[in-house]
Amino acid sequence: MAKELKLTIGWFYPDLMNTYGDYGNVAVLETRAIWAGIEVEVRAIDAGSQLEKDKHVDLMFMGGAQDRQQASVSQDLVSNKGSLLKDLIEADVPGLFICGAYQLLGNSYIAADSSSIDGLKIFDIETKSPSATTPRLIGDIVIKSDLSPESIVGFENHGGRTILGNRAKPFGHVLSGQGNNGTDGTEGTIYRRSIGSYLHGPILPINPKIADWLITKALETKYGQPISLTFPDDTIEAMIRQKIISKKRA
Ligand code: GLN
Repeated sequence: MAKELKLTIGWFYPDLMNTYGDYGNVAVLETRAIWAGIEVEVRAIDAGSQLEKDKHVDLMFMGGAQDRQQASVSQDLVSNKGSLLKDLIEADVPGLFICGAYQLLGNSYIAADSSSIDGLKIFDIETKSPSATTPRLIGDIVIKSDLSPESIVGFENHGGRTILGNRAKPFGHVLSGQGNNGTDGTEGTIYRRSIGSYLHGPILPINPKIADWLITKALETKYGQPISLTFPDDTIEAMIRQKIISKKRA
């Protein structure tokens, strides 16, 4: 069955939203889908291109950036691609939105210079960066999420502190590290089949089960039926996660 399946990954703003090696997430989505026997196309959707309704995207990814890039991407999102992106999320097309991208899908983002950057209001979250002299939240992070029986490991580096609104469900709970704001123990958010998270790393190479979940859900949404795929073993990734977890405990 997998042979006839085709997956189009929409990679939003590959030039502007790509700090801390977040492109590695796209590489993992593409590779694991190919290993599961799926035909894959990766479409770069940058500031100059349109997100046409007829050119379907089955799975979305957007990485992190600093405030300056976020401000220009916000303009393009709010005036151009935002409503289609929202439609895709509401239609259960899965997405992974890391750090700056996560912030931009929220209600608003107050940058470190106090300027307000418009969000798409898809995730019910508010983010505020404290002054440039307040420490950033940086370091290894371990979380527990309903999406994975195993702990999820990543690396965070953000100034913004995010507060979940009443409608927002966390992506996970912090076992060690800072998460959304360093105080309430939540990390990221999950809405329908889309994940917002502060976990760089990038997150997917070291937590391939999240990639497998995104790929499977993307195909289930596209083909409207349960999909069962065989993904490669991830024992080595589990060993690396364990090493990071024990290092945090030491
Ligand atoms: N500019 C944001 C912050 O520092 C996002 C940083 C990032 O994407 N790594 O909060």
